[in-house]
Amino acid sequence: MSDSNESKPVEDGKSLVGKCFIVDKFSKQLKATVIEERIVTPDSFEYYVHFEGQDRRWDRWLKSEDLNKAVEVKPGQEMNDNEFVSDRKVTRNYKRRHDEINHIQKSYEEMDPTTAALEKEHEQMTKVKYINCIRIGKYEIDTWYFSPYPEEYGRHPKMYICEYCLRFHRFPKSYIDHISKCRHRQPLGVEIYRKGTVSVYEVDGAKDKIYCQCLCLLAKLFLDHKTLYFDVSPFLFYVLAEVDKEGAHIVGYFSKEKISPEGNNVACILTLPPFQRKGYGKFLIAFSYELSKREGKQGSPEKPLSDLGKLSYRSYWTFVLLDLIRSCKRTLSISDLAQMTSITKDDIISTLRALNMVKFWKGQHVICVTAKVVDEYMRTAGYKKPILTVDSTCLRWAPKTYSLNNKK
Ligand SMILES: [Zn+2]
Repeated sequence: MSDSNESKPVEDGKSLVGKCFIVDKFSKQLKATVIEERIVTPDSFEYYVHFEGQDRRWDRWLKSEDLNKAVEVKPGQEMNDNEFVSDRKVTRNYKRRHDEINHIQKSYEEMDPTTAALEKEHEQMTKVKYINCIRIGKYEIDTWYFSPYPEEYGRHPKMYICEYCLRFHRFPKSYIDHISKCRHRQPLGVEIYRKGTVSVYEVDGAKDKIYCQCLCLLAKLFLDHKTLYFDVSPFLFYVLAEVDKEGAHIVGYFSKEKISPEGNNVACILTLPPFQRKGYGKFLIAFSYELSKREGKQGSPEKPLSDLGKLSYRSYWTFVLLDLIRSCKRTLSISDLAQMTSITKDDIISTLRALNMVKFWKGQHVICVTAKVVDEYMRTAGYKKPILTVDSTCLRWAPKTYSLNNKK
């Protein structure tokens, strides 16, 4: 510990909770507010901080050394833009984090009062993340958010998760024990899609309850807004897996209500971080619409969507709609598009409105764009064909009817 007296926040016996510091993180300088502190050894502390104006997945435990070098500021105090650290070597991963951290969250003042109240409550309940990292299959993954694992597990910095049955362990020994005994080599449920190495399993929350609860707990580590953990029976889970000679390894999933009065075709959707940016997220979205097409319904994801979810959906809708408008010989109405894609009219209108390709005429929205303009737009915007597409001939699935009483 340093013995100089300039701006040394720790080890003077005073709590730092609520105090704010400028720290060097993610290749720039950010204001960090201390939310909680803990003793690691008698002379070293850790501080859980939130970076002002940033999504909470960047919240993390900092060591006392990090704050020892930091300058204390008042919360809300303006920061000079010139304080950006720009001369550091930026690796690809670093650059990505830097880009993502620039998705600024809405402030409470910008929200309606109910949303703001719910947000505050949610933030209070889930403000500190204890599990920093998980081991699953061959991956070690840094977590993003709090997840309500049972107490003694939830306070452990590292968690070991069986990639097939998703049972969690605190210690490597019990994990290795489990792996040697676990009889599963694929997600639970029924395989309903297989093409090449890509496979999708349908898991019924009422039948494989523990698996689905474990899936929700795992997903919560990477989703901020998610309230479903334990009452999984009303849901179906669609687990995407990559198949090799060892087994079918989980990549991501989405959940869907068996009966959705709001017409949602996705409740939660997640691609695990090691598989992000490889086309799996779009595949999951496309898959959810493929199911809606089989049901003969239009559907929309449950709100609120995460910042990354919003980007994925917006890009999926844009590509699918523009591709249809471009390739179709006749003029399409919004109803035609809804019927062909299972995307709701509202989502179609908001997507096309953002592109300035729809107008309100004689009491309804009409598409006002030519195939040529769309073609031009897609070329300049650099839209590419999705890496992974859903081949509907490989989907072995028919909609089932569920009763309202037990949703089974
Ligand atoms: Zn297992």
